[in-house]
Amino acid sequence: MSTSHPFLSRPVLPLFIDGKWVQARSGETFDCVNPSTGALLTKVARGGAEDIDAAVTAARKAFNGDWRKLKPLDRQNLMHKVLAAIEERFEELALLETLDMGAPIARTSTFRRWIQLAFRFYASQAVQPRGTVFANSVPGEFMSYSLKQPLGVVGAIIPWNGPLITQLWSICPSLATGCTLVLKPAEEAPLSALMMAEILTQAGVPPGVINVVPGPGPTAGSALAAHMDVDRVTFTGSTATGRRIVEASASNLKRVSVELGGKSPDIVFADANLDAAAVGAAMGCFNNTGQVCYAGTRLLVERSIYGTFIEKVAAAGRALRVGDSLDPSTQLGPLASRAQLDRVANYFDVARAEGARFVSGGDRVGGPLANGYFVTPTVLADVHNDMRIAREEVFGPVLAAIPFDTEEEAIRLANDTSYGLAGALWSRDVGRVHRVTSELRVGMAWANCYGVTDPSVPMAGTRSSGYGVKGGPFHIDEYLTAKTVWLNTQ
Ligand code: NAD
Repeated sequence: MSTSHPFLSRPVLPLFIDGKWVQARSGETFDCVNPSTGALLTKVARGGAEDIDAAVTAARKAFNGDWRKLKPLDRQNLMHKVLAAIEERFEELALLETLDMGAPIARTSTFRRWIQLAFRFYASQAVQPRGTVFANSVPGEFMSYSLKQPLGVVGAIIPWNGPLITQLWSICPSLATGCTLVLKPAEEAPLSALMMAEILTQAGVPPGVINVVPGPGPTAGSALAAHMDVDRVTFTGSTATGRRIVEASASNLKRVSVELGGKSPDIVFADANLDAAAVGAAMGCFNNTGQVCYAGTRLLVERSIYGTFIEKVAAAGRALRVGDSLDPSTQLGPLASRAQLDRVANYFDVARAEGARFVSGGDRVGGPLANGYFVTPTVLADVHNDMRIAREEVFGPVLAAIPFDTEEEAIRLANDTSYGLAGALWSRDVGRVHRVTSELRVGMAWANCYGVTDPSVPMAGTRSSGYGVKGGPFHIDEYLTAKTVWLNTQ
């Protein structure tokens, strides 16, 4: 498959502000690298605080213009037109995402369906009734009601592990409600967001409504989080950065949502369909090379089946075809960056030093893949829940298997983490399924499956996995502000 794309032949890929391509004010650039090969893909303009300010100014101007007054049906139609434009260039988007962050082309090609679902769902939200008429007992003739209006300028800061999907969580609700957006992708993977901005503008989204400014977190990201003219910041990334975002948002008390990391438990009881559970547990952790916020990275297994079950999971991992992301038969691509490779390799050392046993994996991949950032899917046994490998988010294909004896112990171990993003169990006992899902301290619980999601169903975290909902009908409320109106009708 060819790696050529017009985006990659420009000397420097610019920022997208106010409907135009512009270079960074500083003139600085950063390198965009293909994680399958370590080769340079292109140079990208490095956005900084001044560029963020220009983007926020453009977004405010667009918000103050006609954009927020667009009729709901016209807004819905525009979203369908945008979807058609995306579909026309979908293969290009999938290719750029694959080259940029290393997800196999077989995986990014499936995102077409997700994009359709997201645009159709949020377009349907554009025409939903909003606001409430309240009963009141004030003497006289007063009517009291709430108006739900678009909130204003939204800043979105997203990570590199799946930007093509993650960007939709702010683009779709902004288009559906009449907000405007400044999107800051991670430096590791900015390409699909830049191309998305071009497609949206060509499809008729007015200048300034969607602005994309890739740049470093500590400069561009923090400028966006602290900006006095941003009404809301939506952040997806690590818990450590999430704390900084919440602090920065205090500047003007902007609304904030933080969708953060996890160390999610996947609990397997002896009465489960163990073949299905083994494949589910392997993919629940290894999918996207383990770079998924809700990855099931702590495998809690009933002691009577512990040895045989983790062998099954390791076998399912070994069967995955690791390879160049552009090879259509590849199931597991590289880690997204050199830094992420170093981080995962360091956790192999941590696990060894803590006495974990490597049932499978624990290596970099050599041979023709040696220049890329590849590791083998890894299953660790003899893990205790208090080891670092069971407590810290690795963000790689590393599964830590822990035995348990009783349902109570499984629940206690599952909840013994600072995170609260997701969790799952595998069991044929319906009573147990109800008990365990209700006891897990998580935002999303799966039973006899792992990682099933849909844009029309809410996703959220609790505890150190953050707060704020994305997906589903409540998400729209985060892009609206409620104004109470009193009307004297006499
Ligand atoms: P990160 O926190 O390092 O970076 C995320 C984004 O924040 C990037 O755009 C980065 O440039 C920016 N950033 C970094 N420092 C900043 C600062 N001081 N101020 C403002 N912005 C700053 O996270 P990462 O390593 O890129 O991403 C992986 C993390 O994201 C994992 O913890 C993963 O679990 C999490 N994640 C969560 C979800 C979710 O929905 N809960 C989804 C995907 C990823």
